Amino acid sequence: MVKNMKLISEIASKAISEGRTYLLEHESKKILMEYGIHTTRAFLARKADEAVEIAREIGYPVVMKVLSPMIIHKSDVGGVKLNLENDEAVRAAYKEIESKFKDKGMIGVSVQKMAKPGIELIVGVTMDETFGHVLMFGLGGVFVEVFKDVSFRAIPISEDDAEEMIREIKGYSLLKGYRNYSADLQAIKDILLRVSKIVSENPIIKEMDLNPVFVYPEGYVVVDARIILDPKFCKINEGNSRNIDLKGLFYPKSVAVIGASNTQGKLGWNVFRNLLTHGFSGKLYPVNPNVEEVQGVRAYKSIKDVPEKVDVAIVLVPAKQTPKIVEECCQAGVKYIIVESAGFSELGEEGKTLEMQMKELIKRYGCRLVGPNCAGLINTHNGFVGSLGLLGELNKGNIGLIVQAGVYAAGFLWGLRNIMDFGIIATIGNKLDINETDMLEAIGADENIEVIGMYLEDVKGGRRFIDVARNITKKKPIIVLKTGRTEEGKKAASTHTASLAGNDQIYSSIFKQAGIIRARDNEHLFALLKAFSKQPLPKNDGVLVITYAGSLGVASADAISLNGLRLAKFSEEIKEEIRRFMPSFVASFNPIDLTFDQTPEQVRKIIETALKCDDVGSILLIVQTEKFGSYVDTLKSIDYKGIPIFVVVFGKEFIIEDVIKLERSGIPVYTTPEQAVEVIATMYYYKNNIMLAEEVLKQTTSKSVEKKVLAF
Ligand code: ADP
Ligand code: MG
Repeated sequence: MVKNMKLISEIASKAISEGRTYLLEHESKKILMEYGIHTTRAFLARKADEAVEIAREIGYPVVMKVLSPMIIHKSDVGGVKLNLENDEAVRAAYKEIESKFKDKGMIGVSVQKMAKPGIELIVGVTMDETFGHVLMFGLGGVFVEVFKDVSFRAIPISEDDAEEMIREIKGYSLLKGYRNYSADLQAIKDILLRVSKIVSENPIIKEMDLNPVFVYPEGYVVVDARIILDPKFCKINEGNSRNIDLKGLFYPKSVAVIGASNTQGKLGWNVFRNLLTHGFSGKLYPVNPNVEEVQGVRAYKSIKDVPEKVDVAIVLVPAKQTPKIVEECCQAGVKYIIVESAGFSELGEEGKTLEMQMKELIKRYGCRLVGPNCAGLINTHNGFVGSLGLLGELNKGNIGLIVQAGVYAAGFLWGLRNIMDFGIIATIGNKLDINETDMLEAIGADENIEVIGMYLEDVKGGRRFIDVARNITKKKPIIVLKTGRTEEGKKAASTHTASLAGNDQIYSSIFKQAGIIRARDNEHLFALLKAFSKQPLPKNDGVLVITYAGSLGVASADAISLNGLRLAKFSEEIKEEIRRFMPSFVASFNPIDLTFDQTPEQVRKIIETALKCDDVGSILLIVQTEKFGSYVDTLKSIDYKGIPIFVVVFGKEFIIEDVIKLERSGIPVYTTPEQAVEVIATMYYYKNNIMLAEEVLKQTTSKSVEKKVLAF
């Protein structure tokens, strides 16, 4: 290994001393070979005679390519001569290349064996500003040029990651087998893992293009390679080994509110009011130099006057005064400071300076800070509700929410609390110190939390985010809504890989790598969160559909199949039993169409009977809007035997009180069968650690799901 790295540093130093930040083909291939990757090799020849000598030695037919630091794309300028079969052809090709490129920095030519044709692949590495090195894989030629059919994973990758990268591309079917020709999937996996290793061990490599790689029924060979160096070693956003214990932040024994106020409508009033009315279980200390008490509680002039060392201080003073207050908090031994004031880096340079001052202070005193410009934290399990927005009653819940926007802890929550119960909500604001990854780690470890939602605009934790999330998703689902999906993040392209690496696609890949479910929009995020929070995971992929309208039964069946699920099947015995509760003229046993005569009692009996059958993994019940109210009590009283139920009712916003009643009892309600089925599928795939195909997430009607059954 040390030997590998020595060779690479020699090749890299030579390039850099010649003013090059990229390696020529023969240099790049040398590095690949050092790591056990098969290539056609490439021998440098500086004269025609030399080229002939090499060609004879390696054996005809050969390929010759121009070698020049000025030429990156060799075939575009006519610098590649294929299938040269004898000495004369080699001499002629050399002459032609020489006459074309002698004024274009030509060092010589690379001579290599002509590889036999195979399926063309591209394997590449690019540098993402958030996650560092990212590996790319795809089929070459039109697949990559036109369809951009490529997959990504952050480096280093695991064996599972490598397999997923291969399965994820549309061209996978071609690789698996097409007209008696299949590709060596193990070999592809091997090359992906080796490239990942090269880059992990040699951060001086910034980007890489192996394009093309020919893959065969057995084995593969890299015929062209390009490596771009980063002389600065550009270490990206690693954020490693932070290991912050945030338990005391979410479960403080004492809280000071600096800027607590008696004036209704002020933020300092809201925050203190929230703490008072939600029964915070610890001690509360309002700090305000101008008053004796705040909302009936004895106030202190400064944090320094508070008689004990408080765990958490919430800061609500104007931005300019914040650094001074933060310093006082640090001196008073406060462990965590939540700066809810705004007016910092989000506004410009002046605000940035204030942030830098705070950063320096907390570093000096070893204190941790949330925000600034955040809307506070909420923990319903101990009544620690420090949100900027005035909030009504909140139930204790199992949902954790980490958000880069205050509205989720205010207006959104005001409404959502009617049908969803949150445990912890953490707003992260400008994430000067504590970022989403820190919050995720802490909330992931919290026993009260069973499902985590995130709203993100960017990710600061870098690689650590992936590792932390991957650990959590093995035990609890994480659903992320990430905005900023436009392609503006594409970088100037020195490699093909970089030009293909759209920022949003990288995020999608990273989420997959970490086992995270990506939500399309807010509606999707909460549709999933409420299901995961209220219902058990589907027992299997069989769905029982009970409907009152045939068309909705058909729509459900379509959605079930498109999402890779299936209709549950019943034994003849159970069919006989169910038939007793069905209209005599209805023939189908799933979907069961009870027509407009459907009644709650009938639904109860059918569900109870159907649940005797092991094939029912989940239940989808479609209820008539005008009769919905009469179903609530019955549906609440059924024993579902650990099988999840999802109810669909059209126009639910018009019968919202009954919908709230059912939701509060733990049964999620959706507007359309398609929406509910997608939720069921997502839960099923989460349970089985299968990724939902991108197309399904985008809700097109083409493809279903990549099951984890491989030709590997
Ligand atoms: P560039 O990408 O700089 O234009 P390549 O080295 O990739 O140049 O060569 C262009 C094309 O020539 C490749 O896509 C491949 O189809 C073919 N080719 C290159 N080298 C070989 C080789 N050793 N054996 C067979 N075909 C080759
Ligand atoms: Mg090429």
